[in-house]
Amino acid sequence: MIFCRFQTGRAVRWGRVSRGTVEELLPDPFGDSSPTGLVWPLKDVQLLAPCEPTKIIAIGLNYADHAREFGHKIPKEPLIFLKPASAVIGPDEPIRLPAASRQVEYEAELAVVIGRRARNVPLEGTKKYILGYTLMNDVTARDLQRSDGQWTRAKGFDTFAPLGPWIVSGISPEDLKIEAYVNGERRQSSRTSQLIFGVSRLVSHISQVMTLEPGDIISTGTPSGVGPLKRGDRVEIRVEKIGSLLNRVV
Ligand code: MG
Repeated sequence: MIFCRFQTGRAVRWGRVSRGTVEELLPDPFGDSSPTGLVWPLKDVQLLAPCEPTKIIAIGLNYADHAREFGHKIPKEPLIFLKPASAVIGPDEPIRLPAASRQVEYEAELAVVIGRRARNVPLEGTKKYILGYTLMNDVTARDLQRSDGQWTRAKGFDTFAPLGPWIVSGISPEDLKIEAYVNGERRQSSRTSQLIFGVSRLVSHISQVMTLEPGDIISTGTPSGVGPLKRGDRVEIRVEKIGSLLNRVV
């Protein structure tokens, strides 16, 4: 099933996508929901970020090739950090370059959408807490990440968490092709089978630290090939079986 959040006129709605159409769902995909019978052509609606997280937990250095690219050792446990919910934008919304940085970079990531409240979840029991998967661009001010010595500012600017285009449920996240393109040119290419810590490990590990709420995002980390964005660029994240998330840079 493919769930989306979308806008028609002034109304924000939840829906499910199939065969080029969106059918409205009430109340939302996080519990029992039913279709209302209202249907729009997909091309006539504006897709929004597919959920409204209370927090985004992102993972640093979770692909061995990316850890090597920065000269880091492979972490022994997942290295987690937070991005603020205020950084979220949806498909086609612009990423705004902040004046404070001269080196803003893209990071293609597979993102887990939490489906129900999760706390202290054992490794083998994570599945029922996951609604599905979407894409995140973990936009990062690399120069500030270096100079600050911690990542809150570098990862936390408004518009630095593009999410979308929708949430795909019922797929296995274990071996999906993941790519980033800038102006149509491929810059990152890997598979989620290269993740050091897989999805179940991440959900279980993070739920030992903090309660996960419906709609919260776990962004699983980026492969090698990260690089700079400049004004006017169009950056696209693609993950097999999920789709494509395109944003321009202003
Ligand atoms: Mg990242």
